[in-house]
Amino acid sequence: MQKRAELYSGKAKTVYTTEDPEHLVLEFRDDTSAFDGEKVERLARKGAVNNRFNGFIMERLQAAGIPTHFERLLGEREALVKRLDMLPVECVIRNISAGSLCRRLGVAEGLDLEPPVFEFFLKNDALHDPMINDSHILTFGWATAAEIRRMKELTREVNGVLQPLFREAGLLLVDYKLEFGRFRGELLLGDEFSPDGCRLWDAKTREKLDKDRFRQGLGSVVESYEEVARRLGIGMTASS
Ligand code: ADP
Ligand code: UDP
Repeated sequence: MQKRAELYSGKAKTVYTTEDPEHLVLEFRDDTSAFDGEKVERLARKGAVNNRFNGFIMERLQAAGIPTHFERLLGEREALVKRLDMLPVECVIRNISAGSLCRRLGVAEGLDLEPPVFEFFLKNDALHDPMINDSHILTFGWATAAEIRRMKELTREVNGVLQPLFREAGLLLVDYKLEFGRFRGELLLGDEFSPDGCRLWDAKTREKLDKDRFRQGLGSVVESYEEVARRLGIGMTASS
């Protein structure tokens, strides 16, 4: 399917319309950003790595019965997806304490969270993605009560698939962000799943292998993403 016009250029991806109004092309760029766009760098190969990574994870989720927007990879950096009416909220699920949870609640990093913690954030960089709850979402009409229930249910199901998948690859899935959108009256998982939007630690050493390497200036960012992909058995060339 051919790209037509640029619809939206975000911090890491560019979204294009296609000849089919129900489909979009997502282009994964090398741009890498943190702190609501305050720190931005271009990291060679990152777009291609994340595109393949996302395709692999979305296919696993789809195979497990989780409805996603993903159709297929189109090229090194591009994927064809269903066009969703995105909900302006981010769903974060945490299996181990890290990041803003530790900063907000003063808890130590690295605690096992059982049951996992679920949080909503408003997708709004200018406001630094503030944490919100069901009540805010309902009152301001960002999603319906049924959609709130469905986002929580699907996020739990995703965790049930991904936690063991990463565990078997010797990785701890610490936390991650999911976005959902409407398609023909149904809620589908949209956007991407890649090391840009999750925390992954080596299960033995707890070495960080995700975007915290970029946030914290630890170096070897894309090399770490590639290492995670290698452990999951994700081929990095078009033929594999
Ligand atoms: P951001 O907008 O946060 O800077 P990106 O650079 O990743 O992030 O931009 C991708 C944008 O495309 C996001 O706003 C995301 O919500 C949106 N998006 C992802 N998947 C879809 C889809 N299937 N349909 C419509 N919009 C989508
Ligand atoms: N996350 C994301 N995009 C956001 C906010 C968070 O992908 O706009 C991911 C982040 O990579 C981490 C998880 O969601 O895996 C939880 O992030 P947290 O709230 O701890 O924020 P941070 O400390 O990263 O600012």
